[in-house]
Amino acid sequence: MPGQAWAFLGGKVVRLEDAKVNIMTHALHYGTAAFEGIRGNWNEEQGKTFVFRLREHYERLLRGGRILKIELSYGADDLCRITTDLLERCGYRQDVYIRPLAFKSAERVANLRLHELASDFALMIVPFGSYIDNDRAIRCQTSSWRRPDDSMMPTGVKLTGLYTTSILAKTEAIMAGFDEAILLNYDGHVSEGSGENIFVIQGNRISTPTETDNALLGITRDSVMTLCRKELGMNVVERRINRSELYLSDEIFLTGTAAHVTAVGELDNRKVGGGGIGPVTRQIQDIYAKVVTGRNPKYLHWCTPVTPAGG
Ligand code: PMP
Repeated sequence: MPGQAWAFLGGKVVRLEDAKVNIMTHALHYGTAAFEGIRGNWNEEQGKTFVFRLREHYERLLRGGRILKIELSYGADDLCRITTDLLERCGYRQDVYIRPLAFKSAERVANLRLHELASDFALMIVPFGSYIDNDRAIRCQTSSWRRPDDSMMPTGVKLTGLYTTSILAKTEAIMAGFDEAILLNYDGHVSEGSGENIFVIQGNRISTPTETDNALLGITRDSVMTLCRKELGMNVVERRINRSELYLSDEIFLTGTAAHVTAVGELDNRKVGGGGIGPVTRQIQDIYAKVVTGRNPKYLHWCTPVTPAGG
C-alpha cells in the first residue's frame, strides 16, 4: 500500500504539499533551525514500523532549540506523540525517514536578534531506503573542509546552518568519485563523516572521537557503543585520533541514523584492512540491523512500534 504524505506545521496536520512557509521566513535566510533525522524501520512480519530511539532524538532537538532560543509549546513527550500519530496516519508500510524541524518562523529579514523572533515546529515523514549502499565497503576521502570548532558554531547539536560544511564536504567527495567525506576538526584530528560518526578498529581496540573533537554525539554511535560492550564484550574508547591512524587501522566504520553501520574499505586511495567489510564491522552490522527493526527483545526499549492506519 503506498501510504499518504502528511506533515505537521503551525500546530496542525496538513497534506505535505500544503506545508508551506513564506519566503521571508528567518530560518530560510540564516540557518536558524534545529533538526533531526529519525528512522522508522518497517517490520513486515509484525506489520509495524519501529521508530528508533525517538525520545533521544527529540531531546537533542530541544537542546539545539535552547541554544537558538527556539521556544516551542511542546515538550519531548508531545513531540513523540505528534510523530507517532502522524506516522500512523501516513500509513506507510516501508522504511521511513522522519524529519522534525524547530525553526525561527518569523517573517523578518535583517534581524539577527534571536530573542525577538517567533518559532514553530514542522514535521515531515517520507519513504526512505538506503542512504549509502552498505552492502559493500565504501570509498572515502579526507575532506579539504574542516569540522568547525564549537567556539565557532555549536557542534554538539544539529543546527541547520552547520550543515553547509557537511554539504560542501559530501559534494566534494562525491564529485571526486568517492562515496563519503571524513572531516578533520579545526586542529587536524579526526572528527566524523559528513553525516556519520566514525569508529576505528586496531587489533581488539575500538576507538571513536568525542565531542571535544567536535563530533556530534550520534544516537547510533551511542547505540553501537552499548552493543559493542554488551553483545561483543568490547569497550569502545573515546579518544583523540590522528589522521594517519586511519590509514593503518584494521577496520573503519561509520554510524548514523541514515547510514546505519557502514564499512569503510578505502580512504584516500589506500585500502583499509583487506578493503572489504571487516569481521567486527560485519558482526556489528548484523546485531544493529536486528535491533533497529524490533527483532531483538533485549533492545525493544529503544524502539517505538507504530501500526500504520488502514493496515
Ligand atoms: N554526525 C553528523 C554531522 C550527523 O549529521 C549525524 C546524523 N544525525 C551523525 C553524526 C550521526 O548521528 P545519529 O546517529 O544521531 O544519526
